[in-house]
Parts: sequence; C-alpha cells; structure tokens
Amino acid sequence: MKEVFPGIYQVEIPLIGNPLKALNSYIIKNENIALVIDTGFNAPECKEALFDALEELGVLLENVELFVTHLHSDHSGLAAEMNLSGVKIYTGEIDGEIINQMTTAEYWEGFKERAISMDLAKDGINFNQHPGHKFCPLHPITYEAMNEGDSIDFGQYHFEVIDIPGHTPGHIALYEPNHRLLISGDHILDPITPNIAFWGFEWDILQVYFDSLAKVRKMPVDLVLASHRKVITNHRERIDELLAHHQERLKEIEKIIEREWLSVRDVASRMHWAIRAKDWTEFPDPQKWFASGEAMSHLEHLYVIGRIDRKEENAILKYRVK
Ligand SMILES: [Zn+2]
Repeated sequence: MKEVFPGIYQVEIPLIGNPLKALNSYIIKNENIALVIDTGFNAPECKEALFDALEELGVLLENVELFVTHLHSDHSGLAAEMNLSGVKIYTGEIDGEIINQMTTAEYWEGFKERAISMDLAKDGINFNQHPGHKFCPLHPITYEAMNEGDSIDFGQYHFEVIDIPGHTPGHIALYEPNHRLLISGDHILDPITPNIAFWGFEWDILQVYFDSLAKVRKMPVDLVLASHRKVITNHRERIDELLAHHQERLKEIEKIIEREWLSVRDVASRMHWAIRAKDWTEFPDPQKWFASGEAMSHLEHLYVIGRIDRKEENAILKYRVK
C-alpha cells in the first residue's frame, strides 16, 4: 500500500491468472472512515488484499463506503458482499443496472447469441472461464446511482462525478477540481490500452469513448489515479496516444476487409494482439471474446461513419469495405 496523495492510498489487488495482473484500488481515509474506489474480483485473494489494507489503516468495514467506477468484475466483484455487511455503494446509473443483470443466468445466456453473430461458435467458445462470469457479484446490490453533476465530499476533498462512457456504457469517475486529481477507473491506462468492446447497436461505443477522451483531455488534471498499472501525470499526451492507437486499429481493420466479406471473429483473428500466443487457436476463450469485442466496436464504428458495409449471413455478421 502506497500513499499516492495526502490521505489517498493505492492498494494493489492481485488478479490471479488474468493478463491485467492487478487492480489499483484506492482508499481515501478521513479519520476512522474510508471511501474505497473499486474492489477487485469476487475472489478470496482480492478480499484478503483489500480487507488487510483497511485493517492496516485502522478502518472498520462498518465505516466504509464504496464507489464503483464501472461494472467490470475486477472493479465490482466484492460489492455485493460488502453491501451485505452494510457498506453503502455508489455507482453509475447504467453500469449499476448491468452489475445486477450480471448476477442472473439470463444475462450470460445472451452472450451465446452474441457469440454466434460474431462467428465465435466456430471456436466452440464457452463463458465458464470469462472473468466477468467467474468473479462477478453473486447477488444484486443496492446502490445510490451517480450521475454527472453529483458530488461526494470526503474530508478535505470535494469529488465531482463525471460521466466518461466508452470502456463500459456507464463508466463514471471522480474529479477533484481543487487538487486537479482524477480517479479514472479504466478510462485512460498506461502502458496498456483500455479494452473497448461492443455493447449493443444502440451505441457507437468507440465514438462514445472518443468523446469521453476529448472531454477529459480538456480538463485541468495533474494526476490521474488509474485502475491498472501506472498513475498518469501527462493525461493529454496519453489521451493523444490512445486516440492514435485506435486510428491505427481502424486502418488495420479496413485493410483486412478491403477485398472480402469477413466475420468479426475472422477480422479479430487477423489483427495484431499483444498477447503471448502463437496464433488465434492458442488464445484462451476469454481473450478470443475480448479481441472479438474490440474488433466489433471498431467495425461498427466504421459502419456507422459509412466507411464499410455490413450484412448478415446465417445469423453471422460480415463486413467489407465499400
Ligand atoms: Zn474495466
């Protein structure tokens, strides 16, 4: 545990077996009470790391409030259990609803249909090893839905809630204007890039993400407390790198479908991925799913802006440059 700002502690929560390696949970302490930002998976080693840190800081669970930046299980995993122990939870309106859907079998059934449209049935993919499925809260949570403009005063800090959708549809963050501090979840990461997946046809989620990056780029921020890997002190530079990364991705995809109709899975399998696997067949099922989600968010963006065509063949979506 490291004090990264006065009274704000960064706790490394291990994410065993996951390429993300660890989650940076943040604990903001004021006398004997604490506001925790994100929890880690619903897994014993995560619980131990977080609860040990609270104990070390001398904070009892009954004096803890929890802020969940977004629905992913490495951020929300322990929310239900803490909720049952009386911990008050704040999270975004949209992601809060999805967290509770994630506790139902129907939610994961829906993934099977999505997998067919992405052509992942071909790989016989199953979701038992999906970290969202494996480590999500087991029960629905009761939470205070937070929206842009809401604020949380905590000790010397005045946190404003900002909406930064993209990485998930309802991702939120805490901005402290007096200290130019942003607790940003998975919106901006360094050196890894946040996964931008497909969340349904109602959003051009990549454009939504670009808009959120543009919004944060304008904000005066000296320190970004990110949820994985490094804290970020040059947010504008990092945002420009992320924007350039996605433009490269869009170009790479256009090249892949320049002359042939391909499914999401076939596009994803031909893209370049920073993963220790010889080829697509060696990708573990969850990585096939994440890669295909990332490919699809980019394909759908290209489709929405009119660069490529889309058709459906035997329930499988296919794309090609016009
Ligand atoms: Zn995430």
